Amino acid sequence: ANFDEANLPETICANVKKAKYSRPTPVQKYSIPIINADRDLMSCAQTGSGKTAAFLLPVLSGMFRKGLKSDTLSEKQTPQAIVVGPTRELVLQIFLEARKFAYGSVIRPVVAYGGTSVGSQLRDLCRGCNILIATPGRLLDFINRGKVSCECVEYLILDEADRMLDMGFEPEIRRLLGSPGMPDKNSRHTLMFSATFPNEIQKLAHEFLRDDFLFLS
Ligand code: AMP
Repeated sequence: ANFDEANLPETICANVKKAKYSRPTPVQKYSIPIINADRDLMSCAQTGSGKTAAFLLPVLSGMFRKGLKSDTLSEKQTPQAIVVGPTRELVLQIFLEARKFAYGSVIRPVVAYGGTSVGSQLRDLCRGCNILIATPGRLLDFINRGKVSCECVEYLILDEADRMLDMGFEPEIRRLLGSPGMPDKNSRHTLMFSATFPNEIQKLAHEFLRDDFLFLS
């Protein structure tokens, strides 16, 4: 099987070919059609399984299909997709992959993480942002400063959810999900990826995902 069944827009398809991804990994094969069908998903996936492309390809495609707002240049950014991950390394890796797949399109990915000054990230953000990839603390900081608004979010992705809980980010995640303007779970698409599936993760999945979410192990 190749990526033809994934129904990707031409630009993204060309970028997948350029990246020499000739065939989908199992997590990609099963996740992409589910996300393309606008279903919420809880997926058990390890690092190295290809989980990043498993959500980025259908999310970027969905952003194309749903139409991007042309006016992305404003003081307050309103990304259509937000990806949250536990570490700077992870969000940078996701960002680079998003930039690779979005290359040549109007989609602008932006990355934000803590442990470094906000200045350059803020400038980058203010140039426009369609998909924001961030660690929980820095993301909340930007939301609280009024630099990012969640009101246009169609896709919310929690990557390495178990690691985020282990690192004590549950309060931040809850604050993000409850932040003003964040569409409720029935008005957005939520995807959770986690290497393990303990009780706490199951609870979060039932709380944050639509009742008819699909579970992939
Ligand atoms: P991830 O699990 O998302 O961190 O991906 C692990 C590595 O596999 C990354 O370096 C990806 O670029 C690569 N990768 C992901 N999907 C594919 C694919 N279908 N074919 C070849 N390489 C891939």
